[in-house]
Amino acid sequence: MVKEEIKNNKKYFVCEECGFAYKEKKLAEKCQNWCKEHNSCNIEITKHAVKF
Ligand SMILES: [Zn+2]
Repeated sequence: MVKEEIKNNKKYFVCEECGFAYKEKKLAEKCQNWCKEHNSCNIEITKHAVKF
């Protein structure tokens, strides 16, 4: 399960492996699955990450 966080009244979904936050839950899940399997980040996924 990805972590849900509220910042500035917006909901973000956070990959628990690498800590990147996403606006879409699907992307956070994708990231987390990737991180767990590969122990690294996929730039194609993390480019969608948002700062918060
Ligand atoms: Zn990740």
